[in-house]
Amino acid sequence: MKTLNVDLDLVRKYNVAGPRYTSYPPATKFTDTVTREQLAAQIAANNRSPRDLSLYFHLPFCETLCWFCGCTTVITLNHDKGRDYLDYIEREVARMAPLLNPDRRVVQLHFGGGTPTFLRPEELRRLGDIIRQHFTFSPDIEAGVEVDPRRLTRDHLVALREIGFNRASMGVQDFNPTVQQAIHRIQPREMTQQAMDWMRELGFGSINLDLIYGLPHQTPETFRETLDTVLTMQPDRLAVFSYAHVPWIKPAQKILEDKILPTPESKLEVLKLVIEKLTADDQYVYIGMDHFAKPGDELTVAQRNKQLQRNFQGYSTRAGADIYAFGMSAVSQTPEIYWQNEKELPKYQAAVEAGNLPLHKAYIVSAEDQIRRETIMRVMCDLSLDYAGMSRRLGINFEEHFAKELAALTPFAEDGLVKRTAGGLEVTDTGRLFIRNIAMTFDNTLSATGERKYSKTI
Ligand code: SF4
Repeated sequence: MKTLNVDLDLVRKYNVAGPRYTSYPPATKFTDTVTREQLAAQIAANNRSPRDLSLYFHLPFCETLCWFCGCTTVITLNHDKGRDYLDYIEREVARMAPLLNPDRRVVQLHFGGGTPTFLRPEELRRLGDIIRQHFTFSPDIEAGVEVDPRRLTRDHLVALREIGFNRASMGVQDFNPTVQQAIHRIQPREMTQQAMDWMRELGFGSINLDLIYGLPHQTPETFRETLDTVLTMQPDRLAVFSYAHVPWIKPAQKILEDKILPTPESKLEVLKLVIEKLTADDQYVYIGMDHFAKPGDELTVAQRNKQLQRNFQGYSTRAGADIYAFGMSAVSQTPEIYWQNEKELPKYQAAVEAGNLPLHKAYIVSAEDQIRRETIMRVMCDLSLDYAGMSRRLGINFEEHFAKELAALTPFAEDGLVKRTAGGLEVTDTGRLFIRNIAMTFDNTLSATGERKYSKTI
């Protein structure tokens, strides 16, 4: 792909609220009507197959709150809370592991947060021991961890490598000191560079940096400087998110309303800058949505080979694995059900203490949902649909089933975002920026009026 030129008129036209499709239906559809007994029956049914496993651990603690944060966190300076939390994780894993088919191999592992490196190195090692005691890792496991350079020692990374982690992701957001001050996250460039140097020395295979645009005091000029700095660091992947302002879910974000937030126009200029600068000279491939990867990175290769997947951790290269997630608020997923653990620490702890699965909400996926999910995921990951292939895969006549939706794609085709081919359609390079909008065509859970629950697609 050559440098991608961004047409701001198209961005304005398609900038509506929509889900991010890390699940389908979106998590806003989960309800508390599914009982623990129903969940146990679903888990038993799922374990009649030897499908691979993807394990997720939510480690929610952070020392301070970044004002923009949309994650489920527990803010504390008391590091003993991390140690106590591991006692609950240990019990939760011990409760779940006997329900799982022992032939199932772990092909993917993810520590997310919060800040996983809030745990002390010896606590990370303990968590690794808990996991390995109950599960078998595949030799080619994809194991990724979210790292906060502000709460990191080299020994944290040594411990993570011992467990088997080979990928790391770090939040940067912006290198500009004024922006960092405004978002309550001071992280000098040297700190990020030191973390990357340690990771490379210790053999982390792929390093991702997260940036956010739409934060206070950002301008296209300041963000250009941040991008220049990032490009000197050469991460393997970059995620550049649009700041999601959802104060009705995250009240702390209201603090940012008192600061100088960029105008929508300035935000669009930054988006244009990001895509054009990162894709210039094929430095990075625009995977879609907010993600960029080096041309040789596993993510790019998986997309080229149509093996990319999308789940709660974003894009992934491991297909056909079911996610079993541990810790407060963590979301598990099999083909037939999504379920989320209790979102508040005391409730999560009480459920684990009582010996229960800490179920908060769930969603049983209908046959029609499965058809729509697979279609949306193929659009998001492959950037194309082959109707005959989809018919075989889904056991339907794809073109008949989605006649209305395929007709509704006409405006996208007229705007050059999709191209109809013999027997299918392809998302164009320009269309990559709008894949959320294109995917929304196949979503039958959206209300006609649009829902306030979602952030804007751009
Ligand atoms: S460190 Fe990450 S999870 Fe914690 S408050 Fe900041 S952005 Fe949120």
